[in-house]
Amino acid sequence: MGRTILILLGHPGAGKGTQARMIMGTLAIPQISTGDMLREAIADKTPFGCEAKAKMDAGELVSDAIVNGIVADRIQQEDCKNGFILDGYPRTVSQAETFRSQIGRGDCLSVIEIGADSERLRKEKRLVGRLMCPGCGEIYNQYSKVPKTDTICDICGKSLVHRSDDREDLILERFRTYREETFPLVKFYQDLGAYHQVDGMKPIYEVTKDILDIVNSVAACHNPPEEKRVRK
Ligand code: ADP
Ligand code: ZN
Repeated sequence: MGRTILILLGHPGAGKGTQARMIMGTLAIPQISTGDMLREAIADKTPFGCEAKAKMDAGELVSDAIVNGIVADRIQQEDCKNGFILDGYPRTVSQAETFRSQIGRGDCLSVIEIGADSERLRKEKRLVGRLMCPGCGEIYNQYSKVPKTDTICDICGKSLVHRSDDREDLILERFRTYREETFPLVKFYQDLGAYHQVDGMKPIYEVTKDILDIVNSVAACHNPPEEKRVRK
């Protein structure tokens, strides 16, 4: 059986990380967040991390060579053998082209854009209010998803952090980068027949349901019931 590969596309703040975390248990495949992996490389002060930091602090993209390399390594790991959820990758057409060579014939690929209105994301303070847990990766919001105790993670008890790039000025730059560099992926995946969209402005649980419905219907096409497979 092929792997279930889910690519989540969407504006910064659309909810890719939140949704990836909601569905990874249901699909029993891991979340691969290039943003999280780059932040770990920065914290570990690796050579990649130093190069990535300058770009991330400017709201720009890290070089394709670095992210292609970290994703290619990550998906070779044992826990990815049944599939994985990509959150934040590919982010350029060139990354998508590189990644395409890693998808096998039997793999079941769904690309889902979590559609969001950038004005509403700003009004709802989804990014300026975002708090992240450095321990377990849980995502909170100072205005809409407040942790039970001050700035402590409900799940693992670590102190929550505000991401250094979740600043008003950088957010505008990240939105611009998304429009210019990542948005062309919509057409790229439409042309491959793998593109779907959900409304990311709905409540979190509804968005999760919409995503799972799409993944299940794509899987059903790949693995039709026995009688449909029989050709006369
Ligand atoms: P968001 O989607 O909210 O911007 P991420 O955590 O996915 O947050 O990414 C944070 C930053 O990490 C991006 O602004 C970018 O600089 C870098 N980054 C993450 N993924 C990629 C990628 N696939 N290619 C290039 N840069 C990336
Ligand atoms: Zn935590």
